[in-house]
Amino acid sequence: MRLDALIFGGGAAGLWLLDRMSRDGHHVLLLEARSLGAGQTVASQGIIHGGLKYSLSGILTKSAKNIREMPNVWRDSLLGRAAPNLTRTRLRSDCCHLWQTDTLASRAGMIGARFGLRVTPETVSDDERPEALHGVYGTVARLPEQVISPRSFVQDLATQYHDRILKIDDANGLEFDLESPGEVRAVRLISPADGTSLLLQPRQVIFTAGGGNAQLRKRAGLSADVMQRRPLHMVMVRGNLPVLNGHCLDGAKTRVTITSEVDTAGLMVWQIGGQIAEDGVKLNAMSLTEHTRAELSAVLPGVDLHDAEWSTYTADRAEGATANGSRPETIQVLCAGNVTTGWPTKLVLAPILAQEIASRATSPYFSDAFDTTPFTNWPRPAVAQLPWEDAGLRWWKSGESPSLPQRRAA
Ligand SMILES: Cc1cc2nc3c(=O)[nH]c(=O)nc-3n(C[C@H](O)[C@H](O)[C@H](O)COP(=O)(O)OP(=O)(O)OC[C@H]3O[C@@H](n4cnc5c(N)ncnc54)[C@H](O)[C@@H]3O)c2cc1C
Repeated sequence: MRLDALIFGGGAAGLWLLDRMSRDGHHVLLLEARSLGAGQTVASQGIIHGGLKYSLSGILTKSAKNIREMPNVWRDSLLGRAAPNLTRTRLRSDCCHLWQTDTLASRAGMIGARFGLRVTPETVSDDERPEALHGVYGTVARLPEQVISPRSFVQDLATQYHDRILKIDDANGLEFDLESPGEVRAVRLISPADGTSLLLQPRQVIFTAGGGNAQLRKRAGLSADVMQRRPLHMVMVRGNLPVLNGHCLDGAKTRVTITSEVDTAGLMVWQIGGQIAEDGVKLNAMSLTEHTRAELSAVLPGVDLHDAEWSTYTADRAEGATANGSRPETIQVLCAGNVTTGWPTKLVLAPILAQEIASRATSPYFSDAFDTTPFTNWPRPAVAQLPWEDAGLRWWKSGESPSLPQRRAA
């Protein structure tokens, strides 16, 4: 079957692009090898950053410039005012809170105003503070950066484009037919359900498979060493906890970033990142838990974590390689032959990546509507589980020792 485009990988990047190219009239399919959003998107904290985090050093970085329109872009989609329609995506919170030092709010506010960020922090009065921040000394500010539930975002787009998303077995059921390196003539699939085969002849092949991009590029005859991984070791704590979404800042660093969601058993789960998850890469799960407990009692003195249960997970950020291995300033797109490879760098930048790739695509070749009935019986991928819903994960109380190795994100 002839197609305009074939997308590999259904995380934030691939799904946003699928929406964009479908609406532009392309005959486009998305292939997913594991579960949608596995790797990074579903494991992420879901913060729709507006640039403040990248301006705290007092310099308007390129990252901040690129990101500053994003809260409004996402807000319009979440409200159904712009495509993609994300009205079924759940919000964890309409804002993030910032806390730590006496001077934080004025300094962060000044930075926001000076750099023309679209979302800037406002000091909140003592009685407007979230319960978790009641015991915090110094100023607390509210930053209108929304926090989404990333799994519901993936589910939202997966439902809308169910007919264009196919599950593949990339180890045994995927073959590239190359004209030359980077020039894909056809892609042959073998159904993971019943062995049926399908020959796809796309005019353009797009890799948005996060950490899977390197391997896919190799199979398309392209170099794989254009990608870097930056690991995180995240902490989760669950129990009778208050809702909290925000950052504790320490100078130009986010000392702790906490997002909250209620799990399927009705317990509040805090997902803890920021500097803790960067430092955690060098620590085992037990040492990281103890380190996090000490950090939380320092930065959230009013929160009782006595009875809480702890766990951790690891996830790699997969990005286009930079010269010194640091975070790229923005999205990364590589084009060779009829293959495009993209990394959004941040969840929040998925719309910019989709725009960039769609604007480079040739106009749709076919004038008729895309008939997806030939794929009706092809298996569909599930949506990845949230890290804390992994049934095999071990949870422990502070002071106990986790005897099982911790899992990687789905
Ligand atoms: C712990 C953590 C927290 C984060 N928090 C935030 C945050 O709060 N805000 C923010 O803006 N960003 C955040 N990020 C970054 C953000 O999650 C990523 O930049 C973004 O999700 C990347 O999306 P992606 O679609 O490129 O990759 P992924 O989400 O990794 O998706 C890749 C998809 O490709 C599939 N795949 C892999 N190999 C193949 C193959 N061979 N064939 C077909 N499919 C394949 C995978 O199964 C997966 O579904 C966070 C990242 C991490 C790790």
